Amino acid sequence: MTPVLEARAVSRLYAGRPAVDRASLQLHPGEITALLGPSGSGKSTLLRILAGLEPADAGEVRAGDRRLSAPGLHVAPEQRDIGMVFQDYALFPHLSVLDNVAFGLRRLPRPERELRARGELNRVRLLDRAASFPNTLSGGEQQRVALARALARDPAVILLDEPFSGLDQGLRTEIRDMALDALRSAGAAALIVTHDAEDALLTADRLALMESGRILQTGVPEEVYARPVSLAAARLTGDADALPAQVRAGWARTAYGEIAAPGRPDGPALVMARPEAFRPAEDDGREVAVTERRFAGGALRLTLMSGGVPAHARWRFTQARAQTVRVRLDPRFCAVFDPV
Ligand code: ADP
Repeated sequence: MTPVLEARAVSRLYAGRPAVDRASLQLHPGEITALLGPSGSGKSTLLRILAGLEPADAGEVRAGDRRLSAPGLHVAPEQRDIGMVFQDYALFPHLSVLDNVAFGLRRLPRPERELRARGELNRVRLLDRAASFPNTLSGGEQQRVALARALARDPAVILLDEPFSGLDQGLRTEIRDMALDALRSAGAAALIVTHDAEDALLTADRLALMESGRILQTGVPEEVYARPVSLAAARLTGDADALPAQVRAGWARTAYGEIAAPGRPDGPALVMARPEAFRPAEDDGREVAVTERRFAGGALRLTLMSGGVPAHARWRFTQARAQTVRVRLDPRFCAVFDPV
């Protein structure tokens, strides 16, 4: 599939230091891509380069055959067929909701402009607030207006910078689902920048992980979660313990049991284990100490200790009241890496 928008080995330097370091990313029609990384990893800068709000110091941005950014080349943001939703929504306070959404449609005759704007407000289920002003809306509603405004021009690509981070936890799920429905029904390619692993995993058709200006891994969320390319990549999508291991004859032995490590040479290694990897076991399991129990909603978070190596498991809270438990490692939630 040809990407509608693509960064190829793009870099951006600030005072000689790369904020974005040879990052490549492809956005496809009808697909939602989440760009996940810690604060300061370069996500917003990459988004701004794609949008044309920042130049590229190396590499290029392309839309199909068209080059949009490269050293010495810069197509203006308004000529890129891209819609933006900013973190603070950036609505015009002196314009009604309807006029905010219609703002980008000034070239259309007034009746058509209004019709389109009303259609977009309907898509985000805010038609009844068309005459209101932004300061009378909740944060979630303002975000939906910003999304409707971005969608109104029917752009090929929508870029959203931390769209859910300003929202209360309680409303977040509902607003996130509504935004996703609107994006999907519009059929645009979307890029959602977020530092929240749950937001990224729940929203993305494709997930890209970013750290220190670099794209570490790209793939469908399940694959990126279950098959991380490194311990750093694993830790971006959720909790992960690093268990020292010894590989012998294709098996990696840890203080919590062993998992298959086919093709890996004998010697030291590191086993990444998610909290789901530590399964309750019967006699076949390894007996390990429980040093701490914490209530975490629908599950108990257990701190385990075996052979001087701590680890963290999540179990349903009917299990494990004893001082020791038996566990076995579930290889579906483990990966073997070189030792650091
Ligand atoms: P993120 O969106 O992942 O939080 P940013 O892209 O905002 O990361 O920032 C990446 C790095 O670039 C950070 O170290 C940040 O301090 C730096 N940076 C971002 N914008 C500028 C700027 N305009 N001038 C100087 N440094 C910047």
